[in-house]
Amino acid sequence: MRRRNPIKSSDPRRVTEEAVAEVRAVYAELEANPPERNCTLQTECCRFHLTGRTPVLTKGEAFTAAKAVRAAGRRELPKRDDGACPLLHPLTSRCMIYEGRPFGCRTHFCDAAGGPYTRKEVSDHIRRLEEIDERLGGDGGRDITVAIRDALEEIR
Ligand code: SF4
Repeated sequence: MRRRNPIKSSDPRRVTEEAVAEVRAVYAELEANPPERNCTLQTECCRFHLTGRTPVLTKGEAFTAAKAVRAAGRRELPKRDDGACPLLHPLTSRCMIYEGRPFGCRTHFCDAAGGPYTRKEVSDHIRRLEEIDERLGGDGGRDITVAIRDALEEIR
């Protein structure tokens, strides 16, 4: 059972902004010192029906992705029923929120690109994302579509 220490603030917007800033800092550190990989934008990892793996997001990551969805000019997640990520653009096959993509998308690489990061390589980043989640009263990692959809509702 995870210890619960949710943030109690009278200003939920500020709490969200602070959490998003922390998550972005974790992402920036990962980008600044990444283990060597060579993504060639095959986007196979965005097609969950092919990989059998779906990214899960902590609450802070979901807010961060939801903000990126909004920044891309969308109020809702696009609908997609072919087993691919709803944020994979159907025409360009590019991620619609690349700068705000979740941690799992930043650390999972197909074998051709060098393979996924090991947990040991990113354990500190994961711990910090989990701490943010805990402070937000989150439930740990949740399915990308559900997590971002709920976050879009919360930041409405
Ligand atoms: S959020 Fe972007 S990078 Fe991650 S699975 Fe979806 S389309 Fe791919």
